[in-house]
Amino acid sequence: MINVRNFFPRYFDISEENGIARYVQCKHVSVNFSKLETTDFLWKKHDTAIQNMKLCDIEPEKSLLDLKIELASRMFRECCFCERRCKVDRTKESGNCGVQQPAIASEFLHLGEESVLIPSYTVFFSGCTFHCVFCQNWDISQRNAGIFIEPAVLVKMIRARKNQGARNVNWVGGDPTPNILYILETLKNCNVNIPQIWNSNMYCSMETIKLLNGVIDLYLTDFKYGNDECAQRLSKVDNYMDIIKRNHRIVEKNGEMIIRHLVMPTHIECCSKSILQWIADNISNIPVNIMGQYRPDYFAKKYQDISCSVSSEEIRTVEDFAKKLQIICL
Ligand code: SF4
Repeated sequence: MINVRNFFPRYFDISEENGIARYVQCKHVSVNFSKLETTDFLWKKHDTAIQNMKLCDIEPEKSLLDLKIELASRMFRECCFCERRCKVDRTKESGNCGVQQPAIASEFLHLGEESVLIPSYTVFFSGCTFHCVFCQNWDISQRNAGIFIEPAVLVKMIRARKNQGARNVNWVGGDPTPNILYILETLKNCNVNIPQIWNSNMYCSMETIKLLNGVIDLYLTDFKYGNDECAQRLSKVDNYMDIIKRNHRIVEKNGEMIIRHLVMPTHIECCSKSILQWIADNISNIPVNIMGQYRPDYFAKKYQDISCSVSSEEIRTVEDFAKKLQIICL
């Protein structure tokens, strides 16, 4: 029996009011910057501030969070939030993810996440940086269905949900990556001490990884494929392995983490085992949630290899392999 507290000490401390959420700390780091300064110069200031994390007693006139918002608004006008790097001006158009302005498809107290996370105040954004042919949330991930909620209004909802027992705010979709500017702006208005969870496919750019650092308390990552061919064929995404490995290596150091892996039929050797082997070789002491609920949805029936549900034997094979590698499974 594993003691989950050992893996998420910071998360538990914040939830129990014995610690401060990172985004709140970020608002107490003073950074003197001007909108006239170049983006390169602002990144240098950002990186120095993150390294030092010198907290002031009261909120400064300009904080590290303000600097992150300035950098994110520049990225928004030439979008590079994810590694598709569409470079579109999101004030005028959308890129590959289909998201221009944020649309929230639903928000509620989620009881179906990992036990350590529930009840989780989950905010589902429409749109996604991936186009998985088997997506079980395709009605929101592949369409821009939803409503814009003013950041100040969402803050009130966060406060109300915390009062109802929410242990965290869980930013998800689709994928939250296209909405990082909106999320930072919401947190600027927020003073609720509650852990922030980044629930994502982790295809974000290095710049986004840096924006998240100092803001996110727990990364809930989705490691789908063990090679680029499967990623390209089933999610229409390039250079998957390099980007996902890079981002996992970095966020492991930036916060606490749970890695999710959805087992897919016939993808045991090429994907599941390959991912677990990489985790065992490269990432230490991070719990993995091996998920067995795959069912063919959306266009999956058109792809023979994933056109049926995953078998209990396949799931057992993956679980046994994880055990052999001494991976901690949630
Ligand atoms: S977030 Fe969307 S618009 Fe921005 S780079 Fe990624 S796919 Fe393109």
